[in-house]
Amino acid sequence: MPFFDQYDALLTPRELDLVEHARRFCAGPFSDAIHGAYLRGEPFAREWITRWAAEGMLGLQAKAEHGGHEASFLCKVRVAQEMARHGFAVAFCLNNLQGQATRISHQGSDEQRRHLLKGMLDGTLLAAPSMSEPTGGSDLGSLATTATRVEGGWSISGVKSWITNGTIVDGLTVLARVGEGGELATFVVLCGAEDSVTRDEIALPGARSFRLAKLEFRDHFVPDWALLSKPGEALRTSMAAVNAARVHVAAMAVASLHAALCEATRYCASRVAFGKPLLAHQGLQWELAEVAIRLEAANALVFKAAHLVNERMPALTAAAQCKKFAVDTAIWGIDQCIRATGAIGASGAHRMGMQLAEVRLAAFGDGTNEMMLDRIGRNLAKDYADPVGPETRGCSGR
Ligand SMILES: Cc1cc2nc3c(=O)[nH]c(=O)nc-3n(C[C@H](O)[C@H](O)[C@H](O)COP(=O)(O)OP(=O)(O)OC[C@H]3O[C@@H](n4cnc5c(N)ncnc54)[C@H](O)[C@@H]3O)c2cc1C
Repeated sequence: MPFFDQYDALLTPRELDLVEHARRFCAGPFSDAIHGAYLRGEPFAREWITRWAAEGMLGLQAKAEHGGHEASFLCKVRVAQEMARHGFAVAFCLNNLQGQATRISHQGSDEQRRHLLKGMLDGTLLAAPSMSEPTGGSDLGSLATTATRVEGGWSISGVKSWITNGTIVDGLTVLARVGEGGELATFVVLCGAEDSVTRDEIALPGARSFRLAKLEFRDHFVPDWALLSKPGEALRTSMAAVNAARVHVAAMAVASLHAALCEATRYCASRVAFGKPLLAHQGLQWELAEVAIRLEAANALVFKAAHLVNERMPALTAAAQCKKFAVDTAIWGIDQCIRATGAIGASGAHRMGMQLAEVRLAAFGDGTNEMMLDRIGRNLAKDYADPVGPETRGCSGR
């Protein structure tokens, strides 16, 4: 049974076409270009965002009435997996852009859609979610960015860090504190070359394709229509999306590890040492067998959580479990694949070094390992104390 069949069995014919389309797009020149950029120490070329957008893929989940495909979560996961086989960071970044377009299509006002959506779908207006700050990533309680009422809109001040695509985005959805009570609200903050915005790349050697950046806003004006989630509603809206984001990251990590295992297995089957293929040496064979076992286990956890998200069922525990396990397994497993391949596995002749450097960062984005353990731990009594268990594991909500 092909590795991703359990997901594909649940997709519509139209969605299967989108996955196939992604598979064809990502093979060949795209794949070579992504790896080439990594070898030169550069982020992948921006033209690939334009070309992905031209294929309509930034509208994967946008509403059909807005020009999108209105695809399911499982389809989004499969499209991302096809790309993550070639590069984890590029898949993370393009899906991040797609996610912002989806948000405006589904949750934005008519005015926001009029100002933003066309550009977000055609790749001329790039946006990123922005919650993290230099003084706090996991601890959103420490969030210090403020939005102050001014005539005709709001004035934003604060520093946002670790922003995906941050060196090139034209706008952010910013979580900020409003008024004396300091309730959280979300604003669409467009940022070009204004004096009120400073932008610095965060140096990440080996993983520049994330284009991570820190952006500082000093009394930066946004108009009234920029309010996306009202004070008091923003945290709930942002956190509602986080389970899906965790499953999505886990699914991409699984796809990157699957690609690495395929690469290592092919190489070890052809490379001869001591008179027989490397893969015929039992010691090495067992090491890759161990990778295969954990890969399958990670994939099963991811599929379970993806199915829950797809069916709009509570998925807090399942999402945290699959993200931690899949990312840890991918980091360990890609490293094993490199080792099994020999020194050449760590060289530019293979892409496993790039995948390892990029997947390594998945342990932070959308919640760290410790935060995943915290979510699972808090719900142990609800999820596991009853020997029969809740109707669906992981249905304990937040
Ligand atoms: C590739 C990548 C892309 C990202 N993209 C974005 C983006 O687009 N937008 C955005 O807003 N953010 C983004 N982030 C930021 C990401 O969400 C944060 O890195 C993450 O929330 C953790 O915050 P931190 O790095 O500040 O670590 P900290 O919160 O400072 O934590 C440091 C360490 O302490 C541990 N820790 C913290 N609290 C506890 C506790 N209570 N118990 C035990 N251990 C604890 C953490 O698990 C971690 O190991 C991205 C990060 C990466 C790496």
